[in-house]
Amino acid sequence: MKCFKCGKEMQNGFLQTTNIVAFNQTRHKISLNPKNEADVMIARKAFTGTDFQGYICKECGLVVFNYKNGISRF
Ligand SMILES: [Zn+2]
Repeated sequence: MKCFKCGKEMQNGFLQTTNIVAFNQTRHKISLNPKNEADVMIARKAFTGTDFQGYICKECGLVVFNYKNGISRF
């Protein structure tokens, strides 16, 4: 996959997370729970993490992954 920002080839791999990952419209200071419809809880696991297959551009730092296809880690 080519990086849509710089056009260089992206490296595939896995974005690995710990318990909670959220993409929120504004920076939440305490809880990462969604506050409105624009907020997305990407992964929430009590004791494990979640892995996402994706691509990284080491040139400009972009990471692309599908947050709906998380893989539970045991
Ligand atoms: Zn790039």
